[in-house]
Amino acid sequence: MPEADTELSKERILVLGAGISGLSTAILLQARGYQVTILAEYRALNQKLLPDNPLVPTDYAMASAYPHNLKVENLNKISADSQRIFRNLERQNFAGLHRYRIYEVFEVNNPADSPASPPLNEHRINFEKFSGEEHDLKAAGLNVPARSDAGILQGWRFDSYFVDMPVYMQELWRTFEVNGGLYQEKIIDRDFIEKLPPGTRAVNCLGLGSVDLFNDKSECLIMRGSQLIVAGAPMVQDEDGMPLAYNYTPTRELYQRADGRPEYLHFFPREDGWILGQTREPGRLDEDNNFIGEEVIGNRFKQDGCLIPLAILHLNHEILYNWQGISVEERKTVARVGYRYYRDPEKTGVHLEVDSDLAAKDITLVHNYGHGGSGITMSWGCSAKAVSLMEKHDATDSNAHSVPAPLDKILNGIEI
Ligand SMILES: Cc1cc2nc3c(=O)[nH]c(=O)nc-3n(C[C@H](O)[C@H](O)[C@H](O)COP(=O)(O)OP(=O)(O)OC[C@H]3O[C@@H](n4cnc5c(N)ncnc54)[C@H](O)[C@@H]3O)c2cc1C
Repeated sequence: MPEADTELSKERILVLGAGISGLSTAILLQARGYQVTILAEYRALNQKLLPDNPLVPTDYAMASAYPHNLKVENLNKISADSQRIFRNLERQNFAGLHRYRIYEVFEVNNPADSPASPPLNEHRINFEKFSGEEHDLKAAGLNVPARSDAGILQGWRFDSYFVDMPVYMQELWRTFEVNGGLYQEKIIDRDFIEKLPPGTRAVNCLGLGSVDLFNDKSECLIMRGSQLIVAGAPMVQDEDGMPLAYNYTPTRELYQRADGRPEYLHFFPREDGWILGQTREPGRLDEDNNFIGEEVIGNRFKQDGCLIPLAILHLNHEILYNWQGISVEERKTVARVGYRYYRDPEKTGVHLEVDSDLAAKDITLVHNYGHGGSGITMSWGCSAKAVSLMEKHDATDSNAHSVPAPLDKILNGIEI
């Protein structure tokens, strides 16, 4: 990757942050004809399977990308734009981007306890509901993931974009680089922001790093996520070759959040193995970045310096063994824990806005951070919005440079 000059040129738009938001924004800026430089302390998933920075969630995402909820202004357009760009990339056979069949299964004690339909389900591809015991569903031709002694199963299946993160991130970096992108490793501090010269154009994709830097006083919710990686495990597919994955909610007696609601498990196979999860434990980070929050209930085991709920290992094993005849317990696992950062989840949500303080100094800086557990799913829609905010505020000539194929097609169907 070519390094940027330390003397940053005003011709180029700066993207701060090298997670999924930074890279997606940088590529959409390139697709609009701009020259772009990314500045960041750390490049997420840079040729590594295992992350080493728990504060950078891009390293941990599984990463399913189907329409669902996130607190963001104009969710419908953001979600639709994201799905459209994934489709445009799928047409180009973009490396690391796939379609998976995902099952969302709920064990219920009583058929009347139906789970509520998920948000934006009308936009999920081939969405189909089911209800019944495992053998009835099998007789109807539905091989639904289940524990062997599960009772009534309710839920739905659908097809979804899924990004195999190590492969996909490499391809994003390659795309960025062949389109003239530059990268510079740099810690961004307040001094750097204060010294930005008038005329600078930048997009802030620093995730959690934005909170102190921009003195963001809005609520900062951290949702801790625990995972096990089963390296080298085989792909799991249906008879048509479609990769299979699940989110599975057993009854709360089996796996429970601190507030008494049932917690769900997940299984996502990738080229390099399986990702087993999960937890959604709400809390915050203290000054030393230790997590303080509401932990899931039940026994844990220690591995690789992390305390992982036993349910993630045992219940996933039960489901996978019963469903596909495959064993988790005989395989070697690696444990990891990452933090999803939700900005102001009850009110304004994702920060997608021009910074008004900097605008007064003739600097256009657009914020794009705080995506919680949906930063991959919403990556393209939020980035498209950030580009749109930049252009509307700056009234610039967007097509200063020609855009070579196939990048010229990435924004097909999107109104900036
Ligand atoms: C366990 C887990 C599972 C998840 N699963 C999914 C999923 O299936 N689907 C989905 O859509 N989302 C998922 N997510 C959420 C998703 O990972 C995040 O929403 C997304 O990665 C946020 O990306 P980002 O680029 O905005 O921020 P980050 O990944 O935090 O990247 C921020 C960048 O800014 C840099 N940076 C920060 N501060 C500074 C500074 N001061 N100076 C210089 N550089 C700095 C960092 O080094 C990094 O490069 C999951 C998250 C977790 C933890």
